[in-house]
Amino acid sequence: MTPPTARPSGRCWKPCSTAGPPPCSTCCAAAPPSPTAPPLHVLPVGHTWDHVPGVTLLGDAAHLMPPLGVGANLAMIEGAELAETLTQARAGEVDAAVRAFEERMQARAATFAEMTAAGLDRLVGPDPATAIALFDDLQPA
Ligand SMILES: Cc1cc2nc3c(=O)[nH]c(=O)nc-3n(C[C@H](O)[C@H](O)[C@H](O)COP(=O)(O)OP(=O)(O)OC[C@H]3O[C@@H](n4cnc5c(N)ncnc54)[C@H](O)[C@@H]3O)c2cc1C
Repeated sequence: MTPPTARPSGRCWKPCSTAGPPPCSTCCAAAPPSPTAPPLHVLPVGHTWDHVPGVTLLGDAAHLMPPLGVGANLAMIEGAELAETLTQARAGEVDAAVRAFEERMQARAATFAEMTAAGLDRLVGPDPATAIALFDDLQPA
């Protein structure tokens, strides 16, 4: 059995069963990394692009927004709608159909992008009470 690695200083993450009473000077595992806040990237609300024949975007690539429970749902419905668009378009009309799909998707995404941006402002604002009030609004007692 490998003996525990002595950690003479620093925080004890997982005390060894054979080590002395806490606070211990010997740990079985390295201390966990300190929490970090990764950057949160979003596209601007109402982001659009000039249509390019033969290619389109959907999901986060089209409308990356704050993670408040919407993005995956949009990506899935857009995938289904694009599939429907492509299978139902008549020859010679595929590009116009995809352009129309993009316009519908962009309009819907803008609504949710605005909503999630406002929600994020409330969640990470300086007053924690605004975050709690958001949950109360979403799910009244
Ligand atoms: C913390 C968090 C919580 C979330 N919670 C929810 C939730 O509760 N409900 C909800 O609806 N949404 C939620 N979302 C949002 C959701 O995860 C995304 O909106 C969704 O995954 C977008 O799907 P996508 O297919 O567009 O993109 P992605 O899921 O990002 O898929 C893109 C894929 O492309 C791959 N890729 C990238 N570049 C290349 C390349 N050059 N070549 C090949 N492959 C490549 C990536 O590895 C990835 O697998 C959350 C997001 C986060 C960050």
